[in-house]
Amino acid sequence: MKKTLITGAAGFLGSHLCDRFIAEGHHVIAMDNLITGDLKNIEHLFPLEHFEFHHHDVSTFVHLGGNLDYILHFASPASPIDYLKIPIETLKVGSLGTLNLLGLAKNKNARILVASTSEVYGDPLVHPQNEEYYGNVSPIGPRGVYDEAKRFMESITMAYHRHHGLDTRIVRIFNTYGSRMRLNDGRVVPAFMGQALRGEDLTVFGDGSQTRSFTYIDDQVEGIYRLLMSDYVEPINIGNPDETTILEFAQEIIKLTGTDQKIVYKPLPKDDPLQRQPDISRAKEILEWEPQVHRSEGLKKVFEYFKSLTPEELHRKEHRDFSHLNGK
Ligand code: UDP
Repeated sequence: MKKTLITGAAGFLGSHLCDRFIAEGHHVIAMDNLITGDLKNIEHLFPLEHFEFHHHDVSTFVHLGGNLDYILHFASPASPIDYLKIPIETLKVGSLGTLNLLGLAKNKNARILVASTSEVYGDPLVHPQNEEYYGNVSPIGPRGVYDEAKRFMESITMAYHRHHGLDTRIVRIFNTYGSRMRLNDGRVVPAFMGQALRGEDLTVFGDGSQTRSFTYIDDQVEGIYRLLMSDYVEPINIGNPDETTILEFAQEIIKLTGTDQKIVYKPLPKDDPLQRQPDISRAKEILEWEPQVHRSEGLKKVFEYFKSLTPEELHRKEHRDFSHLNGK
């Protein structure tokens, strides 16, 4: 039986990866410090014999006894609102956390896949973005703490591969949506769904002409799984090239939810990328992967999920209090 460590396991992507690796017959070691993750996302796995949970911050030394086959490093805040509130933790988990897990992988002779992001392309000057593009990132802007940590993550991962011969994989994840996204984390899919369900106006930032390309969670997990099982070490984009403006997206959500909400405009956050669309030629060729779920279908499923939340969950405003961290 393969033994797999998943960091950020109580988060959105991490919890879906736990489900997938359990279904593939792995023994899953789930790790999370629960700053932005939620045990609710993995509580259904607790009774299983081949699932264990470790409450640990991977930015500090990670110790595990026994052998290990795979590591998937998915621990990180992942919404622009979170990085603004916990910038130091965001930098640490992408840099020190990655260093610790690469060390663990080397020690255990395990294969490691790290979760990078389309944010390494910053506000891109090339469209669509292919893996050869170096990006256009401000190191000192509000997103710099995330973008630069992820760029460092890629750099140190390649260094461990080249210098130590470590078996590494790098996925560049584009905007992904699905069940278990935190309702109030500020990302656009839960934001619009929550607003529609509470009967509030939808908040479009800027004039809504900025674009994103949204990938359904099942497609994302499949791409990540294929990459891990491949022998390809350079970064690969996993995302859905179906691009939309945020204004059209808001209109789509209003139509889907059958509500008659209005759209209100708020200022565009600093360094918000104006356009984003993955070039997935590499994933198609190397992994024989491409997305299967159309946005209209995926959004219907995720709307069912948000509808299933309790009224208390739906009406709770941002409930995360990070003040105790105090930049540590
Ligand atoms: N956005 C918006 N209204 C919201 C939340 C986000 O118009 O209530 C916009 C945001 O400015 C960005 C896009 O939606 O252009 C996607 O934002 P998200 O935070 O989900 O992800 P990212 O900017 O990291 O792609």
